[in-house]
Amino acid sequence: MEKHTARVYGATMRVAPDDSVPAKLRRLLAAVGLEGLDLPGKYVAIKTHFGEQGNVSFLKPLYTRTVATEVKRLSGKPFVTDCSTLYVGMRNDLIDHLECARLNGFNHDSCGCELVIADGLRGDDEVIVPLPDGSYVQEARIGRAILDADVLISLTHAKGCASSAFGGTIKNLGMGCGSRAGKMVMHSKGMPSVIAEKCTGCRKCLKSCAHDAIDVIEHKAHINENCVGCGHCISYCPQKAVNPAWNRNWEDMQIKMAEYATAVVRKVQALHVAIAIDITPQCDCFAGNDAPMVPNVGMFASLDPVALDQAVGDAINAQPVIAGSALADKYAAAAANSASDASSVDSASDASSGEGEMNHLHAINPASDWTLALDHAESLGIGTRNYELITVE
Ligand code: SF4
Ligand code: SF4
Repeated sequence: MEKHTARVYGATMRVAPDDSVPAKLRRLLAAVGLEGLDLPGKYVAIKTHFGEQGNVSFLKPLYTRTVATEVKRLSGKPFVTDCSTLYVGMRNDLIDHLECARLNGFNHDSCGCELVIADGLRGDDEVIVPLPDGSYVQEARIGRAILDADVLISLTHAKGCASSAFGGTIKNLGMGCGSRAGKMVMHSKGMPSVIAEKCTGCRKCLKSCAHDAIDVIEHKAHINENCVGCGHCISYCPQKAVNPAWNRNWEDMQIKMAEYATAVVRKVQALHVAIAIDITPQCDCFAGNDAPMVPNVGMFASLDPVALDQAVGDAINAQPVIAGSALADKYAAAAANSASDASSVDSASDASSGEGEMNHLHAINPASDWTLALDHAESLGIGTRNYELITVE
């Protein structure tokens, strides 16, 4: 059977002096069909990333405001949202997350709408979505406000990512919309652990645990075999002593992430925007995400999240490498290695698809294959990797 082809709309970042990037983004939103969504009187979640403290490459609030203003013009009720993180940082609970967002310039005025942390004060306000056809995930745990909304607009900063290789739309929908317990499922291999040197034995984590899975012995907390890996205890520790057990099996994580993204888009009417600028090797959860590795590509939008990721990933991979970037260093090191060892795992040729096309996203984060999530999302029926790219001027 012939595969369906999805439309992806794309615009470069070039604008004439009498034009602007927000104006071009508005034209992109019109082209992809924002007006066709059922917006009047409806709650519209704009899912973005406020950037960890120290990160400078997250999307500026002006992108959010442009989307929010269009939603309001069409009589919708937008809010900008994200879920708190699993890792212990400055977006780990609602209070710190909002403070981090404010420090990075996100507020009602800059965004044109309210900020809502979708999974609540401690990251446990969630909706459980059954996923009977999931390979790993039969029940996805999604931040409540995202599924309380009538419409979801994912507003993604497209860049690299240490764990998924590509920080694109599927990651924004899957990992990004998961509650803390959801992120535990995707990112972790089970029960968290306590860093004994940080633990003061204060016992505050005990009240977070509904499974009697924490003992305090000789003034140190220990997690026992009752643990179900829900991750609630992480945000309760004032010493930040409880840490997730990170899963380094990126293949599993890609599949779970695709399943979480599936749970989200099956539940809410959605439209997806990806801005491929400041394309750094690592995602916006890192202060040290490094300098961009390829030039700014442009803005893209689609009703199909899989096609959008495929189109944006292809566009990033088609870019020239910025001299002096980490990617340039990678290719130079690989070229040097391949000259001395033709079987080098990270050789420059390993970053090519075999048809002479480069795969920068894989070259910079070779432990993970970003196409696995797309394949799996396609198999679950939420989109297609076949796309037609339509230019918006
Ligand atoms: S992860 Fe959940 S079950 Fe395990 S110790 Fe923490 S709160 Fe208890
Ligand atoms: S809340 Fe933190 S510091 Fe207090 S006992 Fe639990 S792990 Fe230790």
